[in-house]
Amino acid sequence: MKSLNKILITLLMIGFNACNSPKESADLVLLNGNIITLNNADSKATAVAVKSDTIIAVGTDYQIKEFIGESTEIIDLKGKTVIPGFIESHAHLIGLGKSKINLDLTDTQNWDEVIAKVVAASENTKPGDWIIGRGWHQEKWNTVPHKTVNGYPYNTMLNKAVPYNPVILSHASGHAILVNQKAIDLAEVTDSTKSPEGGNIVKDENGQIIGVFEETAEDLINNKYLQYLSLQNSEQLNRQTEREIISGVDESLKNGITSFHDAGETFAKIDILKKLVDENKIKIRLYVMVGDTLKNLRKNLVNYKTIGYGNNFLTIRSIKIYIDGALGSRGAWLLEPYEDLQDHRGLTVTPLSEIREVAELALTNGYQLCTHAIGDRGNREILDIYEDIFSQNTSINNFRWRVEHAQHLSTKDILRFSKLGVIPAMQGVHCTSDAPFVIKRLGYKRAEEGAYVWRKLIDNGAIICNGTDAPVENVSPLQSFYSTVTRQLKSGEIFFKDQKMTRLEALKSYTINGAYAAFEENIKGSIEKGKLADFTVLSKDILTIPDKEILSTEVLMTIVGGKILFAK
Ligand SMILES: [Zn+2]
Repeated sequence: MKSLNKILITLLMIGFNACNSPKESADLVLLNGNIITLNNADSKATAVAVKSDTIIAVGTDYQIKEFIGESTEIIDLKGKTVIPGFIESHAHLIGLGKSKINLDLTDTQNWDEVIAKVVAASENTKPGDWIIGRGWHQEKWNTVPHKTVNGYPYNTMLNKAVPYNPVILSHASGHAILVNQKAIDLAEVTDSTKSPEGGNIVKDENGQIIGVFEETAEDLINNKYLQYLSLQNSEQLNRQTEREIISGVDESLKNGITSFHDAGETFAKIDILKKLVDENKIKIRLYVMVGDTLKNLRKNLVNYKTIGYGNNFLTIRSIKIYIDGALGSRGAWLLEPYEDLQDHRGLTVTPLSEIREVAELALTNGYQLCTHAIGDRGNREILDIYEDIFSQNTSINNFRWRVEHAQHLSTKDILRFSKLGVIPAMQGVHCTSDAPFVIKRLGYKRAEEGAYVWRKLIDNGAIICNGTDAPVENVSPLQSFYSTVTRQLKSGEIFFKDQKMTRLEALKSYTINGAYAAFEENIKGSIEKGKLADFTVLSKDILTIPDKEILSTEVLMTIVGGKILFAK
């Protein structure tokens, strides 16, 4: 009965279109394509017509040709696949841009390679200037360094190789840094310096610091770097930030991303983003979560809320906070101790009372709350806070508050996501790149029951949105899509195959669900009349090709608001 209704509705709509002549002429028409619309019926089309930034018709070539006028631009897709533009639901735009500009260590295979890259960078850097890099990950190296603490190398070799420039190398997770002696000396940190609350200065059994700083301990060094930056004038700094933003936008377009949920920028950075939107320099649609101090949140939230600013290129209506750290650096907050570190359960990085206050601020100012939670304890605590707020405000039935990552869940909490309408904002590619250490940290049983349990969440009715957490991972949606539908590691191993998403589910997690997670499902996320003309053209049909071909699929074109902004 249901499907019959859908057919009837479709026929009525076609009928309506046919009476509606003469047709207005489109600015852009795509013909001869394999168009995956993701409308309610998940139907396919071959053609689409666009006027200004909006889709005016979707259908067959025959139907859409009627919209061709004298000045219509026509693209023959030659059978290629078109999907609604990819929505990256959790990444860091400025961080992504920075990673493209700064030293990129994501592909380094071992500690020697990391050092070699820093040495090469130091050759083009004046003595005293800082060298900033990111993306190393000791668990992904093919050889273990000679001397280690908790798997981390000592900085000894780096100190010898680069003695005159302070160096900060961020861990791929973003939750630890490795620095050289020059940086440590400038920050006046010694073996006797105590770890700050919520952080850890990694020391060996003799109490000697090895050069790694975790969580809040990073600030001991980072503050020194910020001080160095503050010597530059604010105009120089803003110009640098603008360069980073533009570089992040370009990288996104190359990867077929048309909308980007930026997981935490300060109000000051948001001002720069807004200025760039005004100058028409932001070419993808940004959904920016505010990530700032409690003091600034209290003061500014009321003035910053904006929805669809600059023709739907900037929305500020959500807040990003952190309840815990990452699993790799053992900062994720667990109910039971780590399998590979006795008595250690990770930690909360923000006091619960502060999280509670931010939640109240979100409520009062009409913002969505997006909380980073990795460990099962972190997830439970935040769900408790959300549940409490929701139950006291039953007149609001559309909170859509999010848990960013929701990586490791206690069986008891899986159901709560759908029950509370909380969105798990997960990253397919995290699953396969973290897998090598997930079982080490959690043990087999806990990993099987609760790590990246997409199937269980979806079957229970949760709406998962997908992303990459770039620059933690490569921003490519196709790589993350591949991880989501295969859960296959580089080694060929598959990480708990029962929890895979289907192709269609994975595509929705990267399009319509991302739109839903931003309250935007009425304007984007599917290819339908009246929605924004945001499309990604792919070289292959990722719903039907064999698994192994997904990674060789290319983004041929990225179209945002009817404009072709990337083409191969
Ligand atoms: Zn993140």
